[in-house]
Amino acid sequence: MRYEIDSILVREDQIRDRVSVIGRDISELYRGKSLVMVGILKGAVMFLSDLARAVDKDVDVSFDFMSVSSYGKSTESSGVVRIVKDLDSDIRGKDVLIVEDIVDSGLTLSYLLQVLNHREPASLSVCALLDKPERRKVQVPINFRGFVIPDAFVVGYGLDAGGRWRHLPSIWSVRPVQD
Ligand code: 5GP
Repeated sequence: MRYEIDSILVREDQIRDRVSVIGRDISELYRGKSLVMVGILKGAVMFLSDLARAVDKDVDVSFDFMSVSSYGKSTESSGVVRIVKDLDSDIRGKDVLIVEDIVDSGLTLSYLLQVLNHREPASLSVCALLDKPERRKVQVPINFRGFVIPDAFVVGYGLDAGGRWRHLPSIWSVRPVQD
């Protein structure tokens, strides 16, 4: 299926404002502590890099990354989650924040929480830029949330459709093109 971009759901300035509020919330909660921010590749790259810069210097921040299998060219979750790239560091005893682009069915996050909890971090929290609660199949905790959006497939600000449109500064919905 081919897609074209349709309309803006979340503007660049709205993302900027929200990211700075979440950054302040994270700063308050983790002040004086070490925090491992775990970005989920590739979708969370833009969000993680902006969010980390909104966290103040009194939090000792480090980054790590994980990559899990996702939808590929389709827009539907297969329900199958596989680790493609694991963390570089041991998170045992550390405060960990998973930074996700979007929570849809919740299957990916549920799997990540299970895998990372098993490694016995001191704490494990979740920050998701976008939340599509209508599509949820499993309940997952989201400690910091950017925006709740309706059931639409979205691209931009790190999110893609078949590898395209990650570079857009705003979040757009896409629509299928009839061939
Ligand atoms: P879940 O496992 O919650 O169904 O889906 C999580 C992953 O699916 C996200 O990290 C993202 O990679 C992908 N995903 C879910 N909804 C969307 C969407 O609207 N747009 C894009 N580009 N990816 C999505």
